[in-house]
Amino acid sequence: MTYQETVWDDAAGSPALKSYTLANFRSLPQIEALPEQAVSEMEVVGNVLPFKANNYVVERLIDWSDIPNDPIFVLTFPQRGMLKPDHYAKMEAALEGGAGKEEIARVANEIRLQLNPHPAGQMELNVPALRDGTKLYGMQHKYKETCLFFPSQSQTCHAYCSFCFRWPQFVGMDEMKFAMKEGEQLVQYVSEHPEITDILFTGGDPMIMKARIFAKYADAIIESRLPHLKTVRIGTKALAYWPYKFLTDPDAEEMLDVFNRITESGLHLAFMSHFNHLNELSTDAVAAAIKKVRATGAQIRTQSPLLAHINDDAQMWGRMWTKQVSMGCIPYYMFVVRDTGAQHYFGVPLVRAYDIFSRAYSSVSGLARTVRGPSMSATPGKVQVSGVATIGGQKMLVLRFLQGRNPDWAHTPFFAEYDEDAIWLDDLRPVEGSRFFFEDELDAIKAAKQAGRDGTRPGQDTPKQKD
Ligand SMILES: *Cc1c(COP(=O)(O)O)cnc(C)c1O
Ligand code: SF4
Repeated sequence: MTYQETVWDDAAGSPALKSYTLANFRSLPQIEALPEQAVSEMEVVGNVLPFKANNYVVERLIDWSDIPNDPIFVLTFPQRGMLKPDHYAKMEAALEGGAGKEEIARVANEIRLQLNPHPAGQMELNVPALRDGTKLYGMQHKYKETCLFFPSQSQTCHAYCSFCFRWPQFVGMDEMKFAMKEGEQLVQYVSEHPEITDILFTGGDPMIMKARIFAKYADAIIESRLPHLKTVRIGTKALAYWPYKFLTDPDAEEMLDVFNRITESGLHLAFMSHFNHLNELSTDAVAAAIKKVRATGAQIRTQSPLLAHINDDAQMWGRMWTKQVSMGCIPYYMFVVRDTGAQHYFGVPLVRAYDIFSRAYSSVSGLARTVRGPSMSATPGKVQVSGVATIGGQKMLVLRFLQGRNPDWAHTPFFAEYDEDAIWLDDLRPVEGSRFFFEDELDAIKAAKQAGRDGTRPGQDTPKQKD
């Protein structure tokens, strides 16, 4: 394929999305200009981990004079270090040995299986069911108030983040099973669960959907008029990766109309907008798209993991939050990168994550201190590192649940031995006793699920659950 530079005209242009993947990225002049060694390294990694960039990312977000350090380049193009040396060597040998397609796919899958494709009990523990017993594989319901909905048409994104834990979906390892009548089942499930106040559309990226498809789900929700449902959330990276979705795409206006219908129905519309770096907030297009979305009455809340090689810089975070506030967005979560895929490359130890968070937090106005973190989305819940304390001469980490599999855990502080190398909850040891306070109960919840006494309501089976 021959590469043609997109004609960008922010006043009148409506660029078409062009994707760059393993199959065609060599056609980019910016890639051709790199040393062959660097490009073939990208190819080795790209055969294992999913990889997709696009014309906006390539032409507007990446500074090609700063390769390989540019944060958005690392975010969207595969890097050698993302594979462990033995995995890298294995794929490199397969490619250099002239292995055929099938053999390459076999080696790729062998490596992928060693990358913890299903962290945090996502698959087994969170699948809800209707009262009649129908399992809903396109949904997850882990925290009482909020249920996640994965529409079948949103299983991809405008570009892929190299750290993404959803990678097994993108390489076809997880065949997600979808129901024929997803929208109806979603409404049915929520109507059976008066504790649910929020529906969160997720994916992939739900904003990859055509407006007319998204409208079907949104209208089903609006028309159901469920009194306990208050908020529709959309977890999306489209503002960062393809702001034209809300500006010049053929269905941009139609999509904004759907947002208007949601807010006019009295529901809160919350954009859970994923921004990893200040540079993603730097174009005219993203500024214009944010305005358009906000003009529908939607609120934009922002979140991102903390990532080595991309954004492990307190000053950048402080500037990013401040910029978000100035654009009318509300900083919401800073996550710790989870234990899957290339965590060894992106992972930031918890003590360092806390240091970066607290320095960034103390550098911004109170209006940006709506952000919470650093937070781990782990099996028992969202766990925040909320401080380092010294008590009776012993240094320790202060942790607390922002969300718990048992809702009673939320806000409960607990303490772990100070450990500068720990990068995940599993690495931490309690200061007192051999187990954290929630572990016995979590075991009981898991056992109950496995025994099929399946609470379709999270927390319902838990022994200490209050009414
Ligand atoms: C983070 C998360 C939510 C939303 O949690 P909030 O704290 O309300 O934003 C819901 N479900 C799952 C599985 C999550 O990880
Ligand atoms: S946009 Fe979200 S779902 Fe898509 S690759 Fe990035 S983190 Fe993953």
